[in-house]
Amino acid sequence: MERTLSIIKPDGVAKGIIGEIIKRFENDGLRISAIKMVYLTKKEAEGFYIVHKERPFYNSLTDFMSSGPIVVMVLEGNDAIRKNREIMGATNPKDADTGTIRRDFGTNVEKNTVHGSDSLESAAFEIDYFFKSLH
Ligand code: ATP
Ligand code: MG
Repeated sequence: MERTLSIIKPDGVAKGIIGEIIKRFENDGLRISAIKMVYLTKKEAEGFYIVHKERPFYNSLTDFMSSGPIVVMVLEGNDAIRKNREIMGATNPKDADTGTIRRDFGTNVEKNTVHGSDSLESAAFEIDYFFKSLH
C-alpha cells in the first residue's frame, strides 16, 4: 500500500467538480483515507510549494492556490503515486491525455484542477504538511 497527497485546486472547487474527481479516484481503485477542505493563506501556499520557490511561476502559483478553498486528500492504494498522476494527466491540460482530469477540466498550465505528489519523498512531506498525525 502506498499513500499520496491529492489536492483539488481552487479552480476545481469553483467548477463544482469535487464529486466527479473523487469518483474517478475511487473508480480506479484509490481509497480516500483522509480528506478536508482548507483555505490556504499565501504563506501556507508558499510553504507547500517551497520546492518551486526559484521558479518564475512561484508567486502566481501561490496566489492562485490561496485564492479560494481547496480539497486536500490522502489517496491510498497499490502504486498510488503513479496511478494518481496517470488519472490527473500532464501538467499542461493541452498536453494531457484524453480522459484525464486535467484534459477534461483544466483551464491552463497553472489552473490545472488537481495536484498529486510526484515521489515517495514528496508524498511524505506533503501528507505531513496537511495531516501531521497520519504517520
Ligand atoms: P503538481 O505538483 O501540482 O501536481 P505537476 O507536478 O504536474 O503539478 P509541477 O512542475 O510540480 O507540475 O508544477 C507545480 C504546479 O505549478 C503545476 O501544477 C501548475 O499549477 C504550476 N505550474 C507549473 N508549470 C507552470 C508554468 N509554466 N506556468 C504557470 N504555472 C505552472
Ligand atoms: Mg509537482
